[in-house]
Amino acid sequence: MTALNAPHFHDDDKARAYLEAQRWPNGPVCPHCGSAGEHYRLEGKAHRAGLLKCCDCREQFSVTVGTVFERSKIPLSKWLCAVYMLCSSKKGVSSHQIHRTLGVTYKTAWFMTHRIREAMRPSNPAPMGGNGGAVEADETFIGREPGKVKKPSFHHKMKVLSLVDRQTKQVRSNVVDDLRPSTLLPILRENIAKETRLMTDEAGYYHRANKDFMSHETVKHKDDEYVRGDVKPHTVENYFSVFKRGMVGTYQHCAKDHLHRYLAEFDFRYNNRTALEVTDAERTRRALAGIGGKRLTYR
Ligand SMILES: [Zn+2]
Repeated sequence: MTALNAPHFHDDDKARAYLEAQRWPNGPVCPHCGSAGEHYRLEGKAHRAGLLKCCDCREQFSVTVGTVFERSKIPLSKWLCAVYMLCSSKKGVSSHQIHRTLGVTYKTAWFMTHRIREAMRPSNPAPMGGNGGAVEADETFIGREPGKVKKPSFHHKMKVLSLVDRQTKQVRSNVVDDLRPSTLLPILRENIAKETRLMTDEAGYYHRANKDFMSHETVKHKDDEYVRGDVKPHTVENYFSVFKRGMVGTYQHCAKDHLHRYLAEFDFRYNNRTALEVTDAERTRRALAGIGGKRLTYR
């Protein structure tokens, strides 16, 4: 854990300075009015650490206002440690591990990890594929749907639809309630550009996708035709194997209400993986770039 020796993982003033440098490379920006103009620091015992006052709208703010760290009593250095831990572990980090390593309660660790997953979720992602590029679509099953009885096959399991762009090597995953064309096709249309070669297995729910995209090419799993030319949904299958090893090995139980957040975490690490020459430190910086502008809803 030598990477965690950096001062911003231990000292809250250094953590705040580090986060300010990440979020405001050109100086503080007021989250209330967007002004990057003159702001001054409110020093002294009467003010909490890191407080600034905007000279344009007269509101006060700090680097955590409008982020997933806002209104948190958890020291900022511990937040940065938790972000680093989640960014640097391929199969994720359990809330129990965060609780033991950082000395916060289990419940606090649970809230921290879900907020960090929210930071990892992309906002307003662009369509995948386009310009004749290829996007693979495939589905996988995990855990159990709430209230469903265990049976053979997958109907009682939670269902995930993942898309992988062959060119950018990026993945995007969605929790789906069923595998009907009326459920899957709108997600494909929403996330994939029209000028795309869609690649799937031969499952019936994709049959009507050919009119939505430049082409729809399939591989017949049941005839052992796993690879035909470059039509192979293997990239998405590699993603599923990392996701499943993490979900089974690290997280074990996951309620359906939260599955989309775990998917955001695995998508984020996959999209910023070592094979794409993203280091642990850079992956952490990219996660911190996503802490702003996210609305959190917890029941
Ligand atoms: Zn302002």
